[in-house]
Amino acid sequence: MNPGAVFEPSRRLRNVTESATLRLNAKVNQLRSQGRDIINLTTGEPDFDVPSAAKAAVEEGLRKNLSKYTPVAGIAELRERIAARTSRQQPTVVAARGEWKASHVVVTNGGKQAIFNALLATVDSGDEVLIPAPYWVSYPDMAKICEGVPRILSTTLESGWKITPEQLREALGPKSRILFLNSPSNPTGAMYSRDELRALGQVIRSHPEASRLIVISDEIYDRIVLDRVQFCSFAEACPELVDRIVTVNGLSKSAAMTGWRVGWSVAVPAITEALAMLQGQSTSGINSLAQAAAVAALGLPESEFEGQVSMYRRRRDVALEILHKAGRIKMMSPQGAFYVLLGVEGYFKPGEDATAFCERVLEDAGVALVPGDPFGMPGTVRLSFATDETSLASGCRRFVDYLNR
Ligand code: PLP
Repeated sequence: MNPGAVFEPSRRLRNVTESATLRLNAKVNQLRSQGRDIINLTTGEPDFDVPSAAKAAVEEGLRKNLSKYTPVAGIAELRERIAARTSRQQPTVVAARGEWKASHVVVTNGGKQAIFNALLATVDSGDEVLIPAPYWVSYPDMAKICEGVPRILSTTLESGWKITPEQLREALGPKSRILFLNSPSNPTGAMYSRDELRALGQVIRSHPEASRLIVISDEIYDRIVLDRVQFCSFAEACPELVDRIVTVNGLSKSAAMTGWRVGWSVAVPAITEALAMLQGQSTSGINSLAQAAAVAALGLPESEFEGQVSMYRRRRDVALEILHKAGRIKMMSPQGAFYVLLGVEGYFKPGEDATAFCERVLEDAGVALVPGDPFGMPGTVRLSFATDETSLASGCRRFVDYLNR
């Protein structure tokens, strides 16, 4: 029997692509199983340990037998902590509209589900989803699953990998439904300043075609700020747009809790009710023990995480210093997150693309990088510095030596 013969995926899945990173990681594992020494600079997750307070909360949760269903949108204590954290980040919204409350929060299975909920609850077939490129790989495919049409807004290294107000003005049209913003960005580490966000908000406020537009502001890297700049939430920069902003965040990156799957959305009641309804008919409330851990992690002072951020900062500096020795790499120093996007087209062999280049570097130099194509930026590769300094430095050195050979 051929079990696949009768199965056809739904129409909405037909244009969705599988993760290129997974393929590359399979290759890394294959080479390692052959005894090759591979330095993996592809990881999208912190290499730090989970806060011990979160671990203790789970042990305590087990003792208390926290094994029952929780409310769809999350336990009250967690939603309150998330609301309080968001209020601290958005004092201007608080001044204009009052504190964020637990009822504005939906706790989700990672930031990913918060984004998916927001798309599924808002996008109708044929609606346009505006996505600045380079983008996080999942945005376009998620939009397609929701029968939306991704509309890519390209940026350049020269523009700091950020869209301009003019670009947004031109892109907006009658079908515009969603604008994605992601600051700090995966994969570029670019951060929008308050003024830059305000300028984008001004376009949304004044544009005749923007009346249905919802902004999904993905702020999952908010804590990982590497330069002496301040993170600014989109709602904080544009409080007058708060009725159409879904702020997405979570503990995956900020508390190194990727596997615990704790994310959330914060939005006004009309949006939050739709998101909670959707979640109630799909996945329900997230794992009860992970919620207990999240309450503990959110109770920790900011100072608890400063060490991690300064390590990321140091690693970035170490990596950039080495990478600068390859004269034809084009790059911008990332202001946030833990990635640097490298323009490596100058090193391509005839007919080669970034994927083939990454395969060659992996085979020949034993360094794994992610090609930029699935991030919407051909000609580039993404290097992650969420790895220990020694491996990172030798990976960068190997890569540069190989390119300079
Ligand atoms: N948004 C961005 C920009 C990301 O890089 C990621 C994870 O890599 C996510 C969202 C999803 O995070 P989570 O693991 O919490 O679902």
